[in-house]
Amino acid sequence: MYELTVTSGFSSAHNLRGYEGACENLHGHNWKVEATIRAQGLNDIGIALDFKVLKKELNTIVQRLDHRYLNELIPFDRVNATAENIARYIFDELSRRLNKGNIKVACVRVWESEGACAAFLADG
Ligand SMILES: [Zn+2]
Repeated sequence: MYELTVTSGFSSAHNLRGYEGACENLHGHNWKVEATIRAQGLNDIGIALDFKVLKKELNTIVQRLDHRYLNELIPFDRVNATAENIARYIFDELSRRLNKGNIKVACVRVWESEGACAAFLADG
């Protein structure tokens, strides 16, 4: 099994509904995103998936969130834009674009600060 990881990031504002504490107030983060795919095999030149393709798809998703107030965007108008929910959102979007043949998105990890991240992982 091969594993490839690329990173990206975005800056955005949010506030958490129903949270008792400072995060209930409007504030921003410079989010860092790591996306990992797994592949059972390589093509005939030794590549699982071109990094360029992986980066392009991740950046397309991430750009939708950049310099936005996340609470106004689907699905974060309904679910809180926590690192957990953002990771799941990016995981689902990326899986829809990339899961094919022996390629499967394995993990999306979202860092909301240098020392704190949440990940959403594929089953199995
Ligand atoms: Zn926050």
